[in-house]
Amino acid sequence: MQVHLKHATPLSCCYEAIRTCYQSFAYSDGGGRKDLELIDRVANKYRHNSTLEHLFYNFEILGISRACLQELARHRMASFSVKSSRYTLSELKTQESFLPLSAQNLERAQKFLVFTGIEAVDHASVQALENLRLLISNHVKNDYAKFAMPESYKTSLAFSLNARSLQNFLSLRTDSKALWEIRQLAFAIYEALPQDHQYLFSACLKEAR
Ligand SMILES: Cc1cc2nc3c(=O)[nH]c(=O)nc-3n(C[C@H](O)[C@H](O)[C@H](O)COP(=O)(O)OP(=O)(O)OC[C@H]3O[C@@H](n4cnc5c(N)ncnc54)[C@H](O)[C@@H]3O)c2cc1C
Repeated sequence: MQVHLKHATPLSCCYEAIRTCYQSFAYSDGGGRKDLELIDRVANKYRHNSTLEHLFYNFEILGISRACLQELARHRMASFSVKSSRYTLSELKTQESFLPLSAQNLERAQKFLVFTGIEAVDHASVQALENLRLLISNHVKNDYAKFAMPESYKTSLAFSLNARSLQNFLSLRTDSKALWEIRQLAFAIYEALPQDHQYLFSACLKEAR
């Protein structure tokens, strides 16, 4: 998978919003240590965490499975625009058969599937991909063929959320109880954040990778 940050709100939008509450603009050090500590103290320690909603992040996420998407989409305090299987399944039309399960065919299949590393599962996924390819090649409409898609089928999306929701997402999804793929995604999203924003989220990371 790949995660790219498209845009992040400058931290000044957050510390200036906080200073509006206290009319403490005279104490600003122009985005220096005092202003950064202010966000952490007010939003994280005093739990006045609605102030974090002024920080918004836009990500491009490439190559997660539909299984992972299903979990990601449970995060209601976020916005999603997802590659549509209804409109894009014809990408399989031009593909040759993915069988037999040779090294070359497995590599080709990986362009469309997230592999787990468990051989029996990955081979079953490729079989399902081949079934899907045959449906599409036999002119079954995407709207019907999509019901035969494996959960491992790769998708891409635009994903946007505010810092408060991102804290909740990272707390839940970096935890060792989370599914391995969304856990990888959660760490990748954290890594994609601007370095000067990461301090607001580091306490949410449950365990090192
Ligand atoms: C380890 C793990 C296992 C899971 N297993 C399952 C499972 O078996 N089955 C299943 O269905 N889901 C499962 N989930 C998904 C989980 O129930 C949540 O839907 C998901 O994690 C999104 O969390 P959220 O509601 O906090 O996020 P968001 O939807 O982004 O909400 C963010 C926050 O806003 C507030 N909020 C949002 N909506 C409401 C509301 N309607 N009322 C009150 N407050 C609200 C809450 O404070 C919430 O934490 C699992 C999640 C995890 C991490």
